[in-house]
Amino acid sequence: MVYQQEMKRLVELITSSNTIVAFTGAGISAESGIPTFRGKGGVWEKYDPEKVASIWSFLENPANYWEFARDFEARFFNVEPSPGHLALGELEKIGRLEAVITQNVDGLHQKAGNTRVIELHGNTAVIRCLDCGKEYTREDVFERLEIELPPRCDCGGNKLKPDAVFFGEPLPEKPLSEAMDLARKSDLMLVVGTSLVVYPAAEIPLIARSHGCHLVLINLEQTPVDDIFDIKFYTRASEVLPSVVEEVRGIL
Ligand code: NAD
Ligand code: ZN
Repeated sequence: MVYQQEMKRLVELITSSNTIVAFTGAGISAESGIPTFRGKGGVWEKYDPEKVASIWSFLENPANYWEFARDFEARFFNVEPSPGHLALGELEKIGRLEAVITQNVDGLHQKAGNTRVIELHGNTAVIRCLDCGKEYTREDVFERLEIELPPRCDCGGNKLKPDAVFFGEPLPEKPLSEAMDLARKSDLMLVVGTSLVVYPAAEIPLIARSHGCHLVLINLEQTPVDDIFDIKFYTRASEVLPSVVEEVRGIL
């Protein structure tokens, strides 16, 4: 089997570490059918991120975002957690995972049973009117989207924005500081499905490293900071996490 040695080392690390966290990105949701932004087949091959996901472009004309969302976000309805999500849910259940720090905005870690999910980039399930503050669900707004683009709030305003971080916006303070605290006190971090190019989120594994944390990478492609990892798997999350967690469960 490929990566047999690495799998064995990872099982040992999981059973011997005190505080384990996962740091995830779009790659873990790729196997749920949600495309990644970067990497092969990523969304940015089709859309210009400056146009569809920046705050200045949204404020200029919210249709820039909603036209993209109609295509991309429509996949968030009826998606199920991937084998990678489910394995992390199981790892928490058996007492070996403290928290999941995620860059994802799809809510799939919660659906997989993880109870402490730190969302660095927010979540697109809640949508708020920037004029009057009224909240909507994704379902509500998609219904409005069928009638007009951009969708409109009951107050007449047209700036309905998901509670997700757009390019040009700061990260929400509370989750960011919670993630940094965890990075400082963890002794094992599983980094799964992230290109590690979006900052400041990508700093989290670097902070962990500088505090002596063991780092494991499970990503289809290389990242710019691969040197910091103790164990690297260049493969799908589903090829590694379910069998590793299964093995750990057998040992505990
Ligand atoms: P990214 O799109 O930049 O990179 C994804 C990485 O995952 C790539 O390096 C790719 O090689 C890897 N990958 C693809 N399939 C994989 C698999 N099955 N197993 C393991 N790895 C796999 O993603 P990112 O680093 O999270 O990018 C940052 C931004 O993209 C975040 O801000 C996030 O909010 C946003 N995003 C979120 C979602 C989501 O919520 N599902 C989807 C797309 C993008
Ligand atoms: Zn309003």
